[in-house]
Amino acid sequence: MNAQSLYHEVILDHNRRPRNHGDLPDASGRAEGLNPLCGDRLTVSVRLDDGRIGAIAFHGDSCAICKASGSMMTQAVKGLPVAEARALAADFRAMATGEADEARTHRLGRLSVFAGVAQLPGRVKCAVLPWHTLGAALAGQAHADVTDAP
Ligand code: ZN
Repeated sequence: MNAQSLYHEVILDHNRRPRNHGDLPDASGRAEGLNPLCGDRLTVSVRLDDGRIGAIAFHGDSCAICKASGSMMTQAVKGLPVAEARALAADFRAMATGEADEARTHRLGRLSVFAGVAQLPGRVKCAVLPWHTLGAALAGQAHADVTDAP
């Protein structure tokens, strides 16, 4: 399967069956993220257990790329220490904006299916929004606007 069809397959799969979809009643952090360029809006809630992401969930109203990115993000960061989740978010952002070299993109594993959005400037923020919102939730901020992101 080539990169393009793998990308479409993954997006479809995560839109049909988003993972960790919903809200955490016992969240220790929760943020609502907004991407006004596309109209994406999503809420990420996290529960920290001993400095690790013990539980995470997301829900919202977003385009397919944003929803798939959010779904895959929750799978990728669940169980990680907060510092590692932040590092992964930085790697993802670098990949989506075309600033990551091959080694850094490779470290992202399955998340690297989103490497192609770097060629689609209008979709970069759709893919980055869940990660940006996670960063806000971890920092104790209630709102995140991805147009403020560097
Ligand atoms: Zn979008």
